[in-house]
Amino acid sequence: MVGLARLREALSVAEGDPELVRSQVQAFSRQIPLLYFILLVNTMAVAVTHLRSAPAWLSIYVPATLCALCIVRCVRWWRIRHRVLTHDKAVPELRKVIWLAGILGVAFSAWSLLLFPYGTDFEQAQVAFYMATTLAGCVFCLMHLRAAALLLLSIVILSFSIFLVFTGYPVFIAMAVDMTLVGIALAVIIQLYCRTFADVVHAQRELQASQQNTQRLSDENFRLASIDSLTDLPNRRSFFASLRAMSEQALAAGTGFNVGLIDLDGFKQVNDLYGHASGDLVLQEVGLRLLALADPGLFFARLGGDEFGVLVQHKRSNEMLVEVGQRICETLSQPYRVGGNIARLSGTIGWAAFPEAGTTVAQVFEHADAALYFGKESRRGSPVIFSTEHETRIRRSSLLTQELRDADLEAELFLELQPIYDLLTHRTIGLEALGRWHNARLGTVKPEEFIRIAERTELILRVTEVLLRKALDEAARWPCDLFLSFNLSAIDISTSARARRLIDIVSASGVPPHRVAFEITETAVTRDFEQARSSLTMIKQAGCRVSLDDFGTGYSSLSYVHRLPFDTIKIDRSFVTDVDSNSASKKIVKSVLDLCGNLGLECVVEGLETALQAETVKRLGARAVQGYLFSPPMRAGAVAAYLQAASEQALAMAAQG
Ligand code: C2E
Ligand code: MG
Ligand code: MG
Repeated sequence: MVGLARLREALSVAEGDPELVRSQVQAFSRQIPLLYFILLVNTMAVAVTHLRSAPAWLSIYVPATLCALCIVRCVRWWRIRHRVLTHDKAVPELRKVIWLAGILGVAFSAWSLLLFPYGTDFEQAQVAFYMATTLAGCVFCLMHLRAAALLLLSIVILSFSIFLVFTGYPVFIAMAVDMTLVGIALAVIIQLYCRTFADVVHAQRELQASQQNTQRLSDENFRLASIDSLTDLPNRRSFFASLRAMSEQALAAGTGFNVGLIDLDGFKQVNDLYGHASGDLVLQEVGLRLLALADPGLFFARLGGDEFGVLVQHKRSNEMLVEVGQRICETLSQPYRVGGNIARLSGTIGWAAFPEAGTTVAQVFEHADAALYFGKESRRGSPVIFSTEHETRIRRSSLLTQELRDADLEAELFLELQPIYDLLTHRTIGLEALGRWHNARLGTVKPEEFIRIAERTELILRVTEVLLRKALDEAARWPCDLFLSFNLSAIDISTSARARRLIDIVSASGVPPHRVAFEITETAVTRDFEQARSSLTMIKQAGCRVSLDDFGTGYSSLSYVHRLPFDTIKIDRSFVTDVDSNSASKKIVKSVLDLCGNLGLECVVEGLETALQAETVKRLGARAVQGYLFSPPMRAGAVAAYLQAASEQALAMAAQG
């Protein structure tokens, strides 16, 4: 039973193995012309030598018919030699080949056996030689198709060996035995060869599968390496790869493109107020909104934190860039739902054009960053296109950075002091110290400019130390009831050690801590809310006071007032400018004054320039004020004279009042 099953398997097509079938068809197809060539040449040679000895039907018609059949098959093969067969068609095709091998095997064997008796000994030997060589040739051509090869081998060997044995001649009997043994050997070779062939095909299939798998894994790795996992947008690495590719293309084609950098305004506050999980939700939503705007020429990427990049493949005019930018800003400024809260953010975009704004990837990126920086400072929530003005700023910035690094801070930094005045008692109650920098090369640099640069380079720590010492030296000379108000930067309180250093400087100065107030802006506090809170608490525990400066210019102002240990709130001058004419400003100032009253906080109204403004804020409930109306900032040396004059004036007013 097992033997029969093996025989069946050996004589059938490997239907369940499409790759093997396909490889068999391919390999066999290449051998077809050789097979028919061997068959035709050998047959014609035998037919010609038997022309005289054998009857015409055996030496001409039968071989001619068989050869014609072979030629027809050969022509058919030639016509369809390039056809690629599907598995469904290849299986019947192979079956057909097996059948044909059987039929042709029977036909040619029968013909040669019929021819055998007619010739002389030589001609009979030729027929035997014909049978052996043709069989060997054809079996080798059919090698990849075990079933056809074995069928042909067995038909020819069996029929011919039996025939030769029946002749009774010892030579022929010896030939029959010889042929049978060689046939068996050939069958074994075919069997081994077919097994090796199938193994090679399977190994190739596995190799291909493993290559495909490796490719798939490497594609997946590449995808993961170039995608930002939070937003699913391309990441920084992918952004720069595209940027590089675009720049190369643009340089080769003489065209250009635009690079945009987007920074979210107010994202830090969302993180601080609602937690990092909510911050992540906002970033995901930003990713979705940006993706919705993407088109084949507009790519977005997340560069890190709350910074995103955009590439515009075909360069647009400035007007169109502003339009695209506005569309992005509008989308980003729609409210965000985070948990049960609604957060409001905006996005600022800096644009730079390649190659106009920079002929290298680094340059064009830096210039888009410069435009963004400019936007963040003065045009939040809108697009800004890089211009030479920004370039001038960058140059000035790097010049200032260099000079500040090399500066003799002790000699070049000094202070101006601006009085803080009590509207009720008409007395000066304290002085705010304002840093000044005079540099031989740059002249006098405004604090807004050098403080910003010092903050960026961390030189601010040295600047603060020098200025604080100088301010305390001055305050030590003032009457004991005057306090010193001193401005701090975010970095000054960014670690507890830095906060401790400030306290140590105050202690070393001999000025009682209760006479020292430290001012910090809302934006400085929002950089790292928790650290700011712990540093300010330390400062307060050391006996100094803490003021919230420029109140109203930041974001969610009120929440900070509650959560940080402030003693004083300073209302920003922007609310005061039109406080006498604008009812909205008036309402804001009034509500902040009321809020301070309710919370038991002091309130200083900054930037009073006119008597009318002073009168208005006084009516709204303000007492402590500051502004050019009372005195512009003055050099330290002028303070004594100012205080003298002010106290005389206060006495005079008291006498009048
Ligand atoms: P600030 O702390 O709000 O200081 C008040 C600013 O308003 C000062 O500008 C002052 O000269 C100006 N000012 C005062 N009264 C009036 C007025 O009636 N009208 C107008 N138009 N302006 C008035 P300044 O000195 O240019 O300082 C600007 C900012 O630079 C300060 O704002 C403060 O945030 C920062 N700053 C100044 N000195 C230092 C410092 O030593 N350290 C730190 N970290 N920041 C400082
Ligand atoms: Mg201040
Ligand atoms: Mg201020």
